Amino acid sequence: MKQPIEGLHHVTAIARDPQANVDFYTGILGLRLVKKTVNFDDPGTYHFYYGDEQGTPGTILTFFPWPGARLGTHGAGQATATAFSVPEGSLGWWAERLDRLGVDAEAPRLRPGFDEEVIRLRDPDGLALELVARAGDTREPWTGGPVPAAQAIRGFDGVTLTAWNPEVTTAVLRDAMGFRPIGEGKDRFRFAVGDGGPGTRVDVVARPDAPRGHVAAGTVHHVAFRLPDDATQVAWHEELAGEGFRVSPVLDRQYFRSVYFRERGGVLFELATDPPGFARDEPVAGLGGSLRLPPWLEPDRARIEEILPKVEVREVPVPRGGAQ
Ligand code: ZN
Repeated sequence: MKQPIEGLHHVTAIARDPQANVDFYTGILGLRLVKKTVNFDDPGTYHFYYGDEQGTPGTILTFFPWPGARLGTHGAGQATATAFSVPEGSLGWWAERLDRLGVDAEAPRLRPGFDEEVIRLRDPDGLALELVARAGDTREPWTGGPVPAAQAIRGFDGVTLTAWNPEVTTAVLRDAMGFRPIGEGKDRFRFAVGDGGPGTRVDVVARPDAPRGHVAAGTVHHVAFRLPDDATQVAWHEELAGEGFRVSPVLDRQYFRSVYFRERGGVLFELATDPPGFARDEPVAGLGGSLRLPPWLEPDRARIEEILPKVEVREVPVPRGGAQ
C-alpha cells in the first residue's frame, strides 16, 4: 500500500566557490558537512551535503559548487526560499551573528498573515534562506560546529515556491501529492503533510509579474520529499505516471533512491527514500571527513581528486570591518 509523503527530504542548490560554500554553511550557519562526494552525472564537480549529525532527512541542504558559474534568476517556477527552524527567542542572537560575520541579512520581522518571526538572508551566491523562530521543535541540533545548542538550526522549517498562478502548483501539492492547506496570507498559500510541524510545509507565493526563474548559481535546483521505503516509491511512481507526470526511473543516489518529476508550475520535484542514509559508507563520527565515491567511480578516484579543488571545514574569520 502507498504510504504518504512524510515531509521534506532535502533541497539541492547550485553554488560557485566550493570553499566559500563550506565556510558559509558550516562556519556561519553551523550545519554539519555530512557528505563530501561528487555529482554522479559530472564527477569533476563536488556534491556537498549539509545537515544535522547524521544527515537526517528533513535537515539536508545539498550543493553542486561550480567555480565560475554564472548566477541564475530568482523567479516563477522555482523554489525561491529555503527556511530553517531555529529555537524561539534566538533570532536576536542570529541577527547579531550574521551582522558581525558580514552576511547579507534582514532584521527579524513578522511574516504578514502568519504568526511567525523570520530572518531573511542570502548565502555568498545569493541563494535565499530564512531562519524561522519555532517553539517546540524537538529535533536534536548538530553542536559540533560554532553555533551553541540554544540557537542551533534544527532542520528545515519549509520551502517557498514562487508561481505565476498559484492554483497550478497548489493543485499538484493537494491533489497529486497529499498535501493539505494549513494557512493563507495575502499572497502566500501554506500546505503541509503529516503532523504539519517543521520540515513538513510548503508555501506557494503568487507572483504574476515575476520573471521566469532560471536555474544556475544561487538558485535551487530541486526540492526532494521523503518516502519511507522503496515499495512506497514504486507505488508513487506508478500513481504519478498515471496522472500524466513524466517521472524518471528510480536512480540510486547511494544515500537514498530517487525519482524526479516536474510539477506543473515548473519546479523540479524528487521523491527520495529515507534509507540507506549517510552512514552507509563512513561511520557517523566521521561523516564528511573524506571524499566518498560510488563504487562505479572508485577506479577514477586519483583523477577525480586531482581535478577537484581542495576544501576544508575550518573556523571562519570575521571579515575586516565586520566586527564591532
Ligand atoms: Zn536530490
